[in-house]
Amino acid sequence: MPTALITGITGQDGAYLAQFLLEKGYAVHGLLRRSASAEVIGERLRWLGVLDRVVLHDGDLMDLSAILRIVEKVQPDEVYNLAAQSFVHASWQQPLLTGSVTGLGAVNMLEAVRLIAPKARFYQASSSEMFGKIQEQKQNERTPFYPRSPYAAAKLYAHWMTVNYRESFAMHASSGILFNHESPLRGIEFVTRKITDGVARIKLGLASELVLGNLAAQRDWGHARDYVAAMWAMLQQDVPDDYVIATGRTVSIRDFCAIAFGHAGLDWQAHVRTSAAFMRPAEVDILLGDAGKARRKLGWQPATTLEAMAAEMVEADLARHRAAQR
Ligand code: NDP
Ligand code: GDP
Repeated sequence: MPTALITGITGQDGAYLAQFLLEKGYAVHGLLRRSASAEVIGERLRWLGVLDRVVLHDGDLMDLSAILRIVEKVQPDEVYNLAAQSFVHASWQQPLLTGSVTGLGAVNMLEAVRLIAPKARFYQASSSEMFGKIQEQKQNERTPFYPRSPYAAAKLYAHWMTVNYRESFAMHASSGILFNHESPLRGIEFVTRKITDGVARIKLGLASELVLGNLAAQRDWGHARDYVAAMWAMLQQDVPDDYVIATGRTVSIRDFCAIAFGHAGLDWQAHVRTSAAFMRPAEVDILLGDAGKARRKLGWQPATTLEAMAAEMVEADLARHRAAQR
């Protein structure tokens, strides 16, 4: 039975990846940072019904000694580094924390693997935010980067360190440049989930409006469940490499509102207003990925349409609010 270690296992992707690997017969271990609010720990893993099937180890990505001990104990065959301060907007308020966790944290993990389990295969969660102010209309693995936030700059550092460890130490280290991916388990502060949660509240009479920022921004949105399969596929290759993972379709926030409100039979224009509070100091106006390499080499392609994903998210948020009302 292969053994996987996932940092960020309590996040959206970590939960879906844990479920995916368990279905493949892996022993799944995860890094868990301690919280005073113990009752919400593992909520996403619980939602997917896998909380009691994973082994959680207390530790923080910034605590190298803990990471070293955990890698020593788990002896993983595959390491997925998904932990990060992942919210772009917050990265301007916490640039140093973001640099430490999202940037240096990846190097802690690379160091731990190099020192303790050098044969383990390593996955780094890179991001389409690294393309930022886009240099090509459709972004692929050869498109130059232009990060537009402390988050994106930190991810870029972690990305190049992954490439560097691969080239310097012959590590099987791969980096997935994933475009935005969402699900019912997406953090509530991200725009898609904020919208589907808003739709549910408005539909159930719990709210009358939803306040957003820049409605013109465009993103290439896929489903997290499809994207974790690509992470795994990268680590099954003989040769480590970097891959763009995207759907190849870009849609504005405005369009996503129309889809999500429309699913609930609501007119988004009657409920959405904008506020400067949700605008960013620098914006990534548009992202559109070319996942041709992943399709050719990994045989990967997305299975879920944006419409189906939005419907799934709205239904999940309706169910959550209905359950809370009871
Ligand atoms: P989430 O924000 O849902 O999850 C982040 C995870 O990192 C959580 O488990 C969180 O723990 C953990 N974490 C944060 N700080 C630390 C720390 N100091 N030590 C240990 N763990 C920590 O992100 P996603 O699941 O959406 O994304 C997974 C990865 O992929 C992230 O690195 C993200 O930046 C990247 N990415 C995501 C994209 C997306 O669209 N979702 C696109 C491209 C890249 P806790 O539960 O305790 O908060
Ligand atoms: P990101 O691409 O990782 O930054 O993911 P987000 O979901 O946080 O943001 C996607 C886009 O939606 C960005 O261009 C934001 O500026 C835009 N956006 C517009 N309104 C909002 C909002 O209220 N919250 C968030 N998070 N983003 C918003």
